[in-house]
Formats: sequence, C-alpha cells, structure tokens
Amino acid sequence: MSKQLFFNQFREILSQYKRVVIVSHVNPDGDAIGSSLALYYFLLKFGIDAKVIIPNDFPSFLAWMPGVENILIFDKNAEKGVELLNSADLICYLDFNHPSRTGLVHNDLCHCKNTPRVLIDHHRDADYSQFIAYLSEVETSSTSELVAELIQHFGFDKYLDDNIATCLLVGIMTDTGSFAHSIYHPDTFEICGKLISPTVDYQLIHSKIYSTFSENRLRLLGFCISNRMTILDGYNTAYIYLSKSDLEEFNYQVGDTEGVVNFPLMIDNIRMSVLITERQGVIRFSFRSKGDFSVHELAKEHFNGGGHTNAAGGTLECGMEQAIKAFLDVMPQYKEELNK
Ligand code: 5GP
Ligand code: MN
Repeated sequence: MSKQLFFNQFREILSQYKRVVIVSHVNPDGDAIGSSLALYYFLLKFGIDAKVIIPNDFPSFLAWMPGVENILIFDKNAEKGVELLNSADLICYLDFNHPSRTGLVHNDLCHCKNTPRVLIDHHRDADYSQFIAYLSEVETSSTSELVAELIQHFGFDKYLDDNIATCLLVGIMTDTGSFAHSIYHPDTFEICGKLISPTVDYQLIHSKIYSTFSENRLRLLGFCISNRMTILDGYNTAYIYLSKSDLEEFNYQVGDTEGVVNFPLMIDNIRMSVLITERQGVIRFSFRSKGDFSVHELAKEHFNGGGHTNAAGGTLECGMEQAIKAFLDVMPQYKEELNK
C-alpha cells in the first residue's frame, strides 16, 4: 500500500473508529514509546478515545516522556488491558508487525482477532493480510518518522504540539543512535528540523535520554567491555555475554543494557556485535552490524528473531553456555560474508 493511499485511508479511519488501542512491542524502546504516544496524542485531537498498551515496562530513561503515565503496562495490569482490547473498535500495531512480538498481550490479541487492525512499522517481513490499512516502510529510520509523516500529511500547523514533537524526536533519535545509522534519506533530517522549536529542545531531550545513567549502569558498561567482550578473530565479530548474576551484581534495572551492543562496533574492523543476556529463563540476543551484513537474516534463521539489516534481536530457550555455543556453532556459515 502506498503512503498516499494509507494517508487517505487514515482520514476515513479517523472518522470511523472511536475506541482505538495502540499496541507496541515487548521490551519497548524509545521508538515504540515515542511513536505510540505521538499517535495517541494525535488521535485524541479527533475526539478518539485512544489508549496505549505495552507488554512490559519501559526503561527508566524514558520515564520523563509526556504521556507515559497514561500507558497501560500489560504485565502489571492484565485485567484492564484485556478489557481495553475487548472494547476497542480498532487496534493499531506500532513498531512491530507480528503479534508474537507482543509477549503476554499475544494471547489476548488473538482473542479479539475480528477487531480491525492498522499497522505502522518499519520492520521486515510483514504479513499485510491482517490489516485494513498499513504503512510499512523498511527503509525508514523509525516508526516515529512514519507517524511524523502521517501527522505532517494532516498538517503540522494544525496538529503538531510540543508533546507530539518531543515523542517523535525521542523515537527518531533513539532508533538512529542519535543520527548515526539507519538514515536512508534526507527527509529524516528535514522532518526533525520541523519538530525542533524554541519549546522543543533537541539537546535537552538528548541529555534526558543519554546522560541520566546511574553509576551502576555506567560501571556495568565498563565491565561488559573489559571483562565480558570476546573478539572472534577471523570473523570481524565481537560478542558480550551477561549472566543473571552479572546483572544482579550491578543491580540491573530495565534499560541498563540498552546501547551496550553498539560499543564493539567502534572497533575499526568489527562488522558484527552481539550481546547475549540471561533474562527470566530465556537468553536474549541483540545483534548489530555495520555495512550490508544482515543480522536480520542471522537472527531469523537461527535465533527465532529478526529486525533490520543492521539491528536485530532473538531468543533461545536454554542456558548461557548453550546459547554461546549455539552462536559460535553458526558463525562458520557467515565467515566468508563477514570477511567480504
Ligand atoms: P534490540 O537488540 O534493540 O532488542 O532489537 C533490535 C531491533 O530488532 C529492534 O528493531 C527490534 O524491534 C528488533 N527485534 C528485537 N528482538 C526481536 C525478535 O525477537 N524478533 C523480531 N522479529 N525482531 C526483533
Ligand atoms: Mn523502531
């Protein structure tokens, strides 16, 4: 579906639906929260009773964002979440495209499968058949940029306010690593230029996101790099693992490992970086790459995950040792590609 067609359909959606639930993905990041809240504020302007549901809590560095107090965190209040889903006349998927990415919400989303759905997302491999309308653009920095384009289509002069602009900037800033990657066209900068204003201060937003570490979080980062990073000679790859007890030692809080996976890519010849962490009985993989090596393919093929060419994630249900072994076992298949 072309952007133009989506925008036209969205105009009808705005007049047709009155109780809209916006759902985003498990372990929500800045783009998940930013795009969802921006759309939430936009829908409110049309008299729509909008709600945002996320499967589990967001990291504390996003807690200052406007509107977060209105988000329903499903694993803390499932009863209310189910009630909202069941009474919705439209469900919007933001920043993910497959219901398996919604953790605990998944089951209840299946129960209301007859409720119409809309997709706004920038991940690969979407199954469009389940949506009445979709804006699914892989070559776009973030879902927040897509929501910005949607709102711009209706008119920034009429609908943009400080809350929306702040949420959208958070989403674009975090998904591009502060404009360091995932920028496919100059429109990203152009639209951000329009979001910034005397009352929406880019530097202040940046500092609220990136300069609010706890001492433990920064020490954990140092520990990751000096004690837990292995460089795989011959593969241009680095991996970091963190066991449950490592995390406990640094009094881990949600979001404390955010960004850690990017650091090994600062080494000149490293093309892929992997962070392997132990979480409630499963192992989480975070993959990042430079250039055209696709971590999406690797995550999809071997780690029940996916994402983007340069950033993806996955999970294995096993222990840490097995997870590292599983990862090392698949590496030879990619040796040639990683050395190109
Ligand atoms: P992160 O490493 O920051 O958790 O995720 C990187 C990117 O991959 C994000 O865009 C995220 O949405 C996507 N991603 C993370 N985990 C998964 C997963 O298990 N499945 C899929 N399809 N995408 C994932
Ligand atoms: Mn995103």
